[in-house]
Amino acid sequence: MIIDAHSHILGLAADPEFTIEYGREGSLCIYRSMGMLPSHRMPTEEEWEASGFTRKGWPVIGPKESVRDHPGFDKIVVLAISPQWLDGRLIGTVDTTGDLGVDAPMHPDLCNDYIAAVVDTDPDRFIGFASVNPLYRGPDAAVVELERAVVELGLSGVKLYPMYQHWAANDRDVAFPVYAKAQELGIPVMIHQAGSTRIDAKLELGRPALLDDVGRVFRDLRVIIAHCGLPWVDEALFLLTKHPNFYAELSYLIASITRRDLFLLLSKCEPMFVPLEKLFFGTDYPGFLYDPVGLMGKLTTVNEEAEACGLPPIPRTKVDGLAGDNFARTLGILGATSKR
Ligand SMILES: [Zn+2]
Repeated sequence: MIIDAHSHILGLAADPEFTIEYGREGSLCIYRSMGMLPSHRMPTEEEWEASGFTRKGWPVIGPKESVRDHPGFDKIVVLAISPQWLDGRLIGTVDTTGDLGVDAPMHPDLCNDYIAAVVDTDPDRFIGFASVNPLYRGPDAAVVELERAVVELGLSGVKLYPMYQHWAANDRDVAFPVYAKAQELGIPVMIHQAGSTRIDAKLELGRPALLDDVGRVFRDLRVIIAHCGLPWVDEALFLLTKHPNFYAELSYLIASITRRDLFLLLSKCEPMFVPLEKLFFGTDYPGFLYDPVGLMGKLTTVNEEAEACGLPPIPRTKVDGLAGDNFARTLGILGATSKR
């Protein structure tokens, strides 16, 4: 089974101009590293246009576009982004087109309703993860919303963004009520416990090690570390060694390393006591450079690096596991055997 364990959809704010600015900010480091934008100051509008990141033709990504860009994938996990205030503006997943048919004025408060509506367009393909921000209206309101998103809307997990929303993943008052509810509901928690190049994101709150308290207290909670903790990849992997119910997905990381480095990373997991069964393929589509087909190709051909590295190839079943079976098993979609 082929699964993208991490993707997004739609807009981030009612104002499409903001979504463009947000996309530009997120892509700035990539363009700079390619020498397409100045590295020592903010680019001018002309420089942005010349780089190809034009204001014209910014694509709206809905379920149709996601399926189109995921040929060959059995399942696509689509993650909500919960409401948060950023520079005085409320952002979060919204349906700027109204195409999803959520019958209410557009608002990030409805982020989970939009994701449920995406799942409704193709329930065999999409797996929807809710999102809540315990600082938005307080932990109690977040817990109520999470229960609604799972019980009423039928979403399959929850995605959390502590370092963007400025709360600590190990905060007993703010964060633990959300984990307790997720554990009670029996859903996995995917958490952006990793870095971000966004200027407002707080790196110190991104450290994977903050999740150690979560694993110690919530022994039955399945925790998926997004982006394999990039740039603290070894720290994230160590948590997978320690905590039986911890997993990690490879989005963003897999886009930022060569196939050779991916092979070396996967090869070192078992010697450092991390079962490869705990890792999932993901893309962070529709982010820039996060082409699902290209990234999956990097994974499925990874053993072409084995000879040059002087290391044994990764067994085919384990590569298949990374491509989707591991995630499916974690979510209970697959039994003991794969469809493939
Ligand atoms: Zn993401």
